[in-house]
Amino acid sequence: MIVKTLKEYFGYDSFRPLQEEIINSIFKGQDNLVIMPTGGGKSICYQLPAIVLPGFTLVISPLIALMKDQVDGLVANGISAAYINSSQEGKEHQEIYQKLIAKELKLLYVAPESLSFLVTVISQVEISLIAIDEAHCISAWGHDFRPAYTQLGYLRNKFTKTPIIALTATADKATRQDICDQLNIPHAIQHLASFDRPNLRLEVRPGNKRIEQILNFLIDKPNDSGIIYCLSRKTTEQLAEKLQSQGYKAEAYHAGIEHQKRTQVQDQFINDTLQIVCATIAFGMGIDKSNVRWVIHYNLPKNIEGYYQEIGRAGRDSLPSYTLLFHSYADVIQLQKFANMSGNKEVQLAKLDRMKQYADSLSCRRKILLSYFGELIQEDCGNCDVCTDPPSIIDGTIIAQKVLSCVARVNEEEPIGIIIDILRGAQNAVILDKGYQSLKTYGIARDIPWRDWQQYIIQLINQGYIEIAFHLNNKLKLTELSKKVLFNSEKVKLANLAEFDKVKELAIEELKTPKKDTLFERLRELRLNLAREAGIPAYQIFNDATLREIEQLKPTTDEEFIQINGVGKLKMQNYGTKFIKEVIRFSEQKTNKPKRAHKNKGNSYKKTFELYKNGLSIEEIAIERQLATSTIYTHIQKLYEEGEDIDLHTLISKDDLIAVRKAKNTLNSPDALRPYFDHFDQAMEYNTIRIALTIINDEVNQE
Ligand code: ADP
Ligand code: MG
Repeated sequence: MIVKTLKEYFGYDSFRPLQEEIINSIFKGQDNLVIMPTGGGKSICYQLPAIVLPGFTLVISPLIALMKDQVDGLVANGISAAYINSSQEGKEHQEIYQKLIAKELKLLYVAPESLSFLVTVISQVEISLIAIDEAHCISAWGHDFRPAYTQLGYLRNKFTKTPIIALTATADKATRQDICDQLNIPHAIQHLASFDRPNLRLEVRPGNKRIEQILNFLIDKPNDSGIIYCLSRKTTEQLAEKLQSQGYKAEAYHAGIEHQKRTQVQDQFINDTLQIVCATIAFGMGIDKSNVRWVIHYNLPKNIEGYYQEIGRAGRDSLPSYTLLFHSYADVIQLQKFANMSGNKEVQLAKLDRMKQYADSLSCRRKILLSYFGELIQEDCGNCDVCTDPPSIIDGTIIAQKVLSCVARVNEEEPIGIIIDILRGAQNAVILDKGYQSLKTYGIARDIPWRDWQQYIIQLINQGYIEIAFHLNNKLKLTELSKKVLFNSEKVKLANLAEFDKVKELAIEELKTPKKDTLFERLRELRLNLAREAGIPAYQIFNDATLREIEQLKPTTDEEFIQINGVGKLKMQNYGTKFIKEVIRFSEQKTNKPKRAHKNKGNSYKKTFELYKNGLSIEEIAIERQLATSTIYTHIQKLYEEGEDIDLHTLISKDDLIAVRKAKNTLNSPDALRPYFDHFDQAMEYNTIRIALTIINDEVNQE
């Protein structure tokens, strides 16, 4: 059964959407095209079949760093894999060929450039599957075209019987068709996964006092890895310096930095020894780090595809992750300039428009994102800033009238900054030179701060009440709609900025939970030490989701530990004892137990049993014995299994028992606890589930 293989080698209890379907299709010998968002879980779709199929699986992958990472991850799970690329010596290549011929390899990763050297060797061995990762690189329609990919069409002609699977996160139709055409797989089954990433919190804020906002944002994330994307190289450097001066481990990354330093930054980030990377969009393509907890866009991205891919680098492990986008008028002007200079100006400008609409949206942001990728959702997402803190609307008619009449009085000859200066009665050289201090609108709105004026005017632009003439030095121009406001007293609605800011600050306050001495932090430290010893990235030992589950479940025995999602066979062997020890150590310290190891486990159980027989509840026993309740549950369970007279029904409510019984039927009796835990939306304790299952299983056995 393939679920068993999934658990044994990857440690996961169940498949993500589409994975099982895709794998079964491979087993049927079909060609497949997989479209899944970044972090959706594409790799397992070919890695799992590779383990099961008799021959080896050839994986084409564009990036050397990525290959090494994937191979390290596979080896850590007990799967024999290797990669071939130009960074190795001939001797290394020979060794790998030998292994391949001796049938010792299940997966071989190669860059398309190196493929031609390999063909003779490959032809001598049984090849079961060909996987082409980041397949959009084959298409000039995609955003990351690589010429070497275009030779891959011959694979189908050479290996006529071998199924091919192509995988990408690029959704658009033209690219999809092009991939199938070029790879000669016209009958490939297309699997299109949802692009929704509900664990990503979406937030957009006005781009003023950005550094201050970032420092605030970071307060409750002292250890969480994150990326800050900036438009210019210079900003990445300035920002990194600023963060360093505040005590953060931060580095800049852009294409102008020398290769060695870049590799170093990337390695440190992957290994959890560097917390923050301030980068241009050059960063991120080559990494599969699963525990990036947040992504900030310091500047507005130029299109939604790029934005979605970049925020998609957060939270691959499915744990809650933050994304924050700063939206500023200056960025829009800058991007507009770039777009105007580019070859396909119209397309670029239209894409930028969609990006702006997203940033300015007053309705659920996820709806806008997903509709961009052709997916419609009915419900608001509840995990974006608009859903959680909807802006209140004010009557903005007077504000609009002031702005518009000011624009009219300067004959539509001035950009936004000067209009605001006039409204606020500024006394700078430009104003005085042009004699604007004598305008009727001069100084009519000193009470509204500069940046609020800017936000209001942007809102007016987005609603069509004013236009920016980008080709005429960004002068503000009146529109048909402006006339309705000025002469027909049309009402204008604006988002209330004052309240907007207040809510945002509140949200930040709520997030500020100081770092505690939690089991999670301890487990993380242990993981880092083990990773350093083994010379692999920390998340390749266990990802954050697995650590969270260990924290929840507090496994104290091998049987409990192997049930954790993310713990496979080899990792159990390599790390199980160490993590179990840490859990026990932590529980004991938390209950202030004097440091005294149980000489004899049996003795400890006995004490628990005595208290139980005296009628104490689990909680009471835990207090009496100064142990964690989960430990007492384990004792009771063990005692029961050893045949002691324990009535498990006293430890669980009737309702809970009925609920688990029902769940067992719906879920088709899974082996692990996790599916139940998820089934109850994580609201029922693992201990309760375990007790219920013991009762139910015993009933079955007695029948
Ligand atoms: P993609 O290539 O689609 O961007 P990956 O294959 O790198 O995504 O997977 C992203 C993360 O999800 C990895 O940490 C991976 O181990 C995890 N993952 C994949 N499948 C599952 C699953 N069935 N259950 C839990 N985690 C999974
Ligand atoms: Mg991938």
